[in-house]
Amino acid sequence: MSVPDDAVVRPVPRLDEPLARVLGERSAAPLAKLGLRTSGDLLRHYPRRYSEPGAFTDLAHLVVGEHVTVMAEVRQATIREMRSRGGAMLQAVVTDGSHQLHLTFFAKRRGALRLHETRLVAGRTGLFTGVVSDYRGQRQLTHPDYQLIGVDADDEASAFLEASRPIPIYPASAAAPTWRIQRCVRTVLDPLTEDDLPDPLPDDVRARHGLVGLRQALLDVHEPYADEHWKRGRDRLRYEEAFVLQAELARRRSRAVGAVATARPRVDGGLLDLFDAQLPFTLTAGQRAVGEELERELAAAHPMQRLLQGEVGSGKTVVALRAMLQVVDAGGQAALLAPTEVLAAQHARTLRALLGPLGEGGFLGGAEQSTRVALLTGSQGATARRENLLDAASGRAGIVVGTHALLSETVQFADLGLVVVDEQHRFGVEQRDTLRAKAAQTPHLLVMTATPIPRTVAMTVFGDLETSVLTEVPAGRSGITTHVVPAENLAWVERTWRRVREEVERGGRAYVVCPRIDPDEGKGARRDEGDGADLLAADELDLDGPAEAPARRPLQAVLQVAEELRALPALAGVGVAELHGRMPPDDKERALADFASGRVPVLVSTTVIEVGVDVPEATVMVVLDADRFGLSQLHQLRGRVGRGSAPGLCLLVADAPEGTPAATRLATLASTGDGFALAAVDLELRREGDVLGAAQSGAASSLRLLRVARDGEVIELARTDAREVVEADPELESHPALRAAIDRQLAGEREEFLDRA
Ligand code: ADP
Ligand code: MG
Repeated sequence: MSVPDDAVVRPVPRLDEPLARVLGERSAAPLAKLGLRTSGDLLRHYPRRYSEPGAFTDLAHLVVGEHVTVMAEVRQATIREMRSRGGAMLQAVVTDGSHQLHLTFFAKRRGALRLHETRLVAGRTGLFTGVVSDYRGQRQLTHPDYQLIGVDADDEASAFLEASRPIPIYPASAAAPTWRIQRCVRTVLDPLTEDDLPDPLPDDVRARHGLVGLRQALLDVHEPYADEHWKRGRDRLRYEEAFVLQAELARRRSRAVGAVATARPRVDGGLLDLFDAQLPFTLTAGQRAVGEELERELAAAHPMQRLLQGEVGSGKTVVALRAMLQVVDAGGQAALLAPTEVLAAQHARTLRALLGPLGEGGFLGGAEQSTRVALLTGSQGATARRENLLDAASGRAGIVVGTHALLSETVQFADLGLVVVDEQHRFGVEQRDTLRAKAAQTPHLLVMTATPIPRTVAMTVFGDLETSVLTEVPAGRSGITTHVVPAENLAWVERTWRRVREEVERGGRAYVVCPRIDPDEGKGARRDEGDGADLLAADELDLDGPAEAPARRPLQAVLQVAEELRALPALAGVGVAELHGRMPPDDKERALADFASGRVPVLVSTTVIEVGVDVPEATVMVVLDADRFGLSQLHQLRGRVGRGSAPGLCLLVADAPEGTPAATRLATLASTGDGFALAAVDLELRREGDVLGAAQSGAASSLRLLRVARDGEVIELARTDAREVVEADPELESHPALRAAIDRQLAGEREEFLDRA
């Protein structure tokens, strides 16, 4: 009888073997609690650090409490029952010829000591390691580790070598202490051959950088003989992490680039031309250069995959809008996605304002050649929503603005040609994929970051995209001066409000930003209902210890501060309005309009004004509790002033005692206006996980050795190598080990990390 093919039992790859099978249930159970289930898991459980081996000590110089390793000969070993305490005890005496040392082992039963008894035979020499104690005037080691020459080691030299190895210290638990993990790792690793450990790094890449193979690297980090070994192994495994991630990003990029898209070449005499003709300013050199890049890529029959990051106020919106108009001219539609509803609504307003009559297609007063901007949000009324859905589906709206809800199935496009994502690290690879699936053919993609991000973060989070950068802000802005105002210095705080008054009297406007809407708000509310506030959590504030931990007064709140300012003598007669995400849309509109016109020149608000609010007369930005905001966000906030011809002033009111991380953050902000420089500092100061997304931090992270803030060079190298490999073999057909490593590394948490990032 023949056995059908699929009934042949394939052996499980060694790395996928459950630890319970390799080590037994008893040893495997505590490891499972650490999330280690297979041999592969355990081998990728790297030591956290290494401790120095005990120094070799002369028996004549044993000091109580010291961790020592001594070479000595066994003189005798005896087991006896302990009548008083119960249980059994083995006591051995070892000697160097002139001095003695006792070794003591305890056990519940005699039998458990048998192994030691059979090993510690008189006349054998060994290395004994442990902490020296004193028992009735006798030096002793309790439960020492030991290896016997001729038994555990071939000779003295190799015994010494063994005893002088760095000791790996593993992330451990009470049930699985580090030394036990070490033994388990050895049990798993030692029998594995190179064939059991296929190397994700291609040979030539490895050779190019002089990196050791996978098996050697694992031996290096788990069983080093010297510090150079674990350093060598760690470097190679760190590079591997970067390479595997970059290979996946390169593969995605190459798939997207290889896909077919509808070409949307620029049309002469179209909306884009009309728009350019009506622009009230000239584009900066950077805007022109990026514009040409986008124009060219949209005209190609492959999907554009571009990240646009720019300095605050560099004019990204106009660049994006011009790209959208090119697509509309070519018969397609563009979708603009914002991270929150409030921001989506603001974008729609901004776009409509920029377009003027060109954006009023089908309306009275619309230009002859024109399109329409549809806004789709979850909170809009059924009628408005139906109409907007229809505009999107019929193609009447050339531009559709919304949140990620635009990705839901109910939203249909007539011909989606371009997706623009305006985001703050919240739109992951997965969403990019979903969106591509919405169109008959992959749409072109433009991702914009709200603030500059460090190059290494861009490479890690947006590694599948090409990057364009706008560094220059339009000419004619007079710059912003930033000062830190200590909240407890009442004279300075008073001076702050007097400055506000002076600016107002000179025709300026002032923003006053607070972290909260009302004083009673729950403490857990980090994000004030989608207004973009990204307050630092309490535990992020004391990166360097509990210096800032003492109970703080409640955070400044919009409603309360507005009341206080209205009652302030310094601001007598000056109009003060409120703005926050919880107000009805009409009230918001009115507050902003009154502010813009100067009728109510002081606006107390949450970070709703962070993005999209553009009032050239605004000259002062006061941020209360400034220590609660991240650097990038403060930079974004201050970008709201100094947009006209009058210089801007940013006053950061904060409780930030000198020497605290918050003080460092604020001082840095005051010292530079360069958003890219700030982003780099932000990355250093904030915990990495907060930059890359929550899943990236913590023990469950699959980036174990790589740190984006530190390993820029490694990431860069890995990216170049990975792109080369993927270019030669887009689906990595000749690199099965690399494919497997991608699947393993990117499964679960990594996908999540990429998506959240
Ligand atoms: P950001 O890049 O921060 O999103 P915006 O797109 O909001 O910047 O642009 C900031 C302001 O600068 C807007 O009022 C915009 O209309 C204006 N702007 C854009 N480009 C130019 C330019 N070339 N010259 C003058 N003002 C410009
Ligand atoms: Mg913007």
